[in-house]
Amino acid sequence: MTIVACSKCGTKNRVEIAAAATRVAKCGKCGTPLDLSKAASKEDESKPLIVTDATFRGEVLQADGRPVLLDCWAPWCGPCRMVGPIMEQLALESQGRYRVAKLNVDENPRIASEFQIQSIPTMLIFKQGKLIDRIIGAQPKEAIAARLAQALKAP
Ligand SMILES: [Zn+2]
Repeated sequence: MTIVACSKCGTKNRVEIAAAATRVAKCGKCGTPLDLSKAASKEDESKPLIVTDATFRGEVLQADGRPVLLDCWAPWCGPCRMVGPIMEQLALESQGRYRVAKLNVDENPRIASEFQIQSIPTMLIFKQGKLIDRIIGAQPKEAIAARLAQALKAP
């Protein structure tokens, strides 16, 4: 998956280059054909991926076989601010083994309620489209990394 910015409206579109070879890739917002020569390099996985109610299914449930660690947070939450930098570090260290993502529960109430997030931070670990682990409250990096390691071993 590659990100290509629309030359007309600036919307960043996700494009499957293999599919784009057989049909014209167009901007999802305004329909302008995308100039694939302007394709950015691969999605930057060294940073947490921002997930929303709209993108959750595709980004998390339909992710490839790797675990996805989803940090459910809100800007006003003090403990969330301690977890934030840990997520950044885990993303930096992921090296393709897992994906780190963040969901703002205030802006995305549908997913927050679907997974019964009652206190934040809550970290959810998904694998193969299923919720396999739930970490409630701020935890040291080692504790979160240990749960991720378990998720990597899970079938
Ligand atoms: Zn556009």
